[in-house]
Amino acid sequence: MGTGPLQGILDEIAAEARDSLERGKVADYIPELACIDPDQFAIAIARPGQPTLTAGDAGVAFSIQSVSKLFMLALALGRLGDRLWTRVGREPSGQAFDSMLLLELEKGRPRNPFINAGAIVTTDAVLEGASPREALGALLRFIRAAAGDEAIHINDRVAASETATGHRNLALAHYLRSHGNLSNPPEMTLGTYFHQCAVELNCAQLADAGRFLVGGPGVPRLVSQARIRRINALMMTCGHYDGSGDYAFRVGLPGKSGVGGGILSIVPGVASVAVWSPGLNHYGNSKLGTEAMERLTARTGWSVFGPE
Ligand code: GLN
Repeated sequence: MGTGPLQGILDEIAAEARDSLERGKVADYIPELACIDPDQFAIAIARPGQPTLTAGDAGVAFSIQSVSKLFMLALALGRLGDRLWTRVGREPSGQAFDSMLLLELEKGRPRNPFINAGAIVTTDAVLEGASPREALGALLRFIRAAAGDEAIHINDRVAASETATGHRNLALAHYLRSHGNLSNPPEMTLGTYFHQCAVELNCAQLADAGRFLVGGPGVPRLVSQARIRRINALMMTCGHYDGSGDYAFRVGLPGKSGVGGGILSIVPGVASVAVWSPGLNHYGNSKLGTEAMERLTARTGWSVFGPE
């Protein structure tokens, strides 16, 4: 598909989002996110060796929140390799992103690296060989290299806001520690985790940053092809928490969402797609973002499960 028709599809999707009356609910448990205007929408597509296409508010920065978990996972796998899997599983949880339920039943081993408990363990694993400053520096270097943009930074106000109210994550971290699955003091691991969640990107930068997961020539080579395949598999099965099955059914692509309203989806071998709209559905995933991705794969035939 050439640039022309694809740009037309993006413009159409952005116009449909603009007209949407049901926009979902902005996350309000992090005060800095509560005041974000829900009337925003952006979509961006980055393909190997081609200019990134965008529509809507693609230059507006937002905190990537849980989308950061896939960059930290790539970093953790690079440092620890398969040892990471002794501490965290690879199965969907069927529970909300911040759930404690299975953690008790499964003795402190989180189901996967994309629910909060699993992401906290992943960050803690990176902190085994690095200080918080070094770990965050490595994460920023990774995202900057992936996006090809040195200006990417962390929004300290968002990190501070979550630090002040993140009691549930603190509870998860203490619980993990009680099972011997947290090597560092909970406050230290969470300080790093809250800052990674507060990495700020706009939609075009997020699509660019996702190119390393597309594979093949013409994209930044930051992880091996074998790891690309496995990270995509985890995104497909676990990237949208208890909404992962619904996302696979409707969109048919690996994806990772965040409560900032961003979603990064990968069309293996073809493209990295980012959408952003701050209103969330009841799973805590972007409502208009999911609908836009559904329209995009229907109109391009990009679902990994085949065309409509
Ligand atoms: N920083 C958020 C939290 O830990 C990330 C959650 C999310 O994006 N789903 O609660």
